[in-house]
Amino acid sequence: MIRAVRAPDPQRLAKHEGQHKYDHGHALVLSGPPGHGGAARLAARAALRVGAGLVTLGCPRAAVGENAARLDAVMLRAVDAAEDLERLLEDRRLNAICLGPGLGLEPVRAELVAATLASGRPAVLDADALTLLARDPCLAAHLHPSCVLTPHGGEFQRLFPDLASVPRPDAVVAAATRSGCVVLLKGAETLIAGPDGLALHAATGAASAPWLATAGAGDVLAGLIAGLLARGLPPQEAAETGVWLHAEAARRVGPGLIAEDLPEALPAVFRSLG
Ligand code: AMP
Ligand code: MG
Repeated sequence: MIRAVRAPDPQRLAKHEGQHKYDHGHALVLSGPPGHGGAARLAARAALRVGAGLVTLGCPRAAVGENAARLDAVMLRAVDAAEDLERLLEDRRLNAICLGPGLGLEPVRAELVAATLASGRPAVLDADALTLLARDPCLAAHLHPSCVLTPHGGEFQRLFPDLASVPRPDAVVAAATRSGCVVLLKGAETLIAGPDGLALHAATGAASAPWLATAGAGDVLAGLIAGLLARGLPPQEAAETGVWLHAEAARRVGPGLIAEDLPEALPAVFRSLG
């Protein structure tokens, strides 16, 4: 049975007075080499806008300067190797990770994927992280129930080639069962499978928002879900809430949308939820 993704319960997203920023979670977004940080910066802004109390961008030392120049409220840390990430994760308050957008495909990036999975932290794996998982079945064996995979159609096919001819709803359920985590298959009709069953968000008909198919939109979605994981939502709820907020932000911005607009539209979306 496929259920529809519903508008989130505002109570689940409300921040309560008197709480410290650390009570709202701390998301870590990992980024790649100099000149490739745009996607991760979009994800980091989305994680902040969706209400993570703190967001840190971890990137190679050589890219810290250019990322710092483009982000103000996001903290920067040098992450050149898996040991740097492991050291950062000694801080237990860092409670969700986003990796993939602009990550790169060098062997050291695969080590970051491995260290992320080994940490057991809730994590969103998107873009290059999905390609690295597809290349190395040993990595994929370490996926766990707090992971959310966010492939588009091509990434899904690379990850699960044997499911190519299976209808999308069945394929996404099979992928979630096999990988043991939440799988979110993007498109005009986004499907999310996990322990809460199969959910569909259809950006079609009256809810159509084809302008969302634009560079960087998927990176924003990954950041939204990471921010919601940092805020403590369970993985499938974080995935479904992220998709709903993302689509609603897109609907509000309308034609002409660029990915940068999506995080900025979130305050209005939150106001409309009451
Ligand atoms: P990515 O392929 O990673 O850049 O992500 C693209 C984003 O745009 C995903 O959130 C998709 O669900 C969304 N998307 C793609 N095509 C459409 C469409 N025709 N209508 C609405 N959203 C779409
Ligand atoms: Mg993408």
